[in-house]
Amino acid sequence: MKSAPPADTSDAALAEVASSSTKLASSKEKTKRTALTRTSPKPDVEGAPSESSSAGSLTSLQKAMRDSLDGARFRLINETLYKNASERAKGMMQEDPRMFEDYHAGFRRQVQSWPTNPVNHYIDSLSRYPPRTVIADLGCGDGALARALVPEGFAVLSFDLVSDGGYVVAADTCSAVPLPGSEGNEGEKSAGEGQVVDVVVCALSLMSTNWPGCIREAWRILKEGGELKIAEVTSRFTDVDLFIALLGSVGFKLKSKDDSNSHFMLFEFKKVARKWKKEKDWDAILYKGDLLKPCEYKRR
Ligand code: SAH
Repeated sequence: MKSAPPADTSDAALAEVASSSTKLASSKEKTKRTALTRTSPKPDVEGAPSESSSAGSLTSLQKAMRDSLDGARFRLINETLYKNASERAKGMMQEDPRMFEDYHAGFRRQVQSWPTNPVNHYIDSLSRYPPRTVIADLGCGDGALARALVPEGFAVLSFDLVSDGGYVVAADTCSAVPLPGSEGNEGEKSAGEGQVVDVVVCALSLMSTNWPGCIREAWRILKEGGELKIAEVTSRFTDVDLFIALLGSVGFKLKSKDDSNSHFMLFEFKKVARKWKKEKDWDAILYKGDLLKPCEYKRR
């Protein structure tokens, strides 16, 4: 039985995220100004005190207040990303790229408290792959995988909602990854053609309500027999078997599942040939985004 996809976050909530950018910037400024007038008598450049002098001068109460504001903003952006379709998330990030930076600063703080982090696990395991393996990192964040593996001779193609002007290419991975590959022809069973990617990584990045679109794109860009590696927060799964079945319907065969970690699950799938699908079959698959619940990070 089909269930309705989760409703998008209201416009009011989105407006709140956008305005929190301005509010927090001004409250950070206020904290900085207060700190400066109290304890920073010697700015590095006249009239333009440096960030380090202001950060160093925060009292522990001011630092606690700043951290709590940063944490609240991170949770608000996080919720918006999980409760909306990717088109909306992309528009929001492009309008205010600071949102992307703030999100990532908060995300890094969160995962630092975990015993291990999926990206480090992938850096370690992929570094043992043959040289010239082509890896696509869908929802790469700050591109940690590429930063570690490109210098080792791997081709890592990194995509996220906002580009950093270096390693990361801006793309909505749930609708169109700018890489070659077809889905085959009507009435035929095939693996498509034109693909160059050996491994796709989705590390904690199946965030938007239309995340099955990212799985569809992963299949389209992978060579036949290519690997899809997924890491997701354990508490997001409503039913792991249904999740695996959805991946199966897109054309991925489960190779391994690892639930030994306390925070996230790791899956490895292999791309197999499949029968061409009509758009109405895709609609039924995309409709199943609520198999993964939004991830709510706790106050820390
Ligand atoms: N994989 C990285 C980042 C994880 S945070 C790591 O493990 O360190 C999840 C990332 O997925 C965020 O950077 C978010 O912007 C990205 N993301 C979520 N939905 C996306 C989409 N539709 N298109 C591109 N990136 C997306």
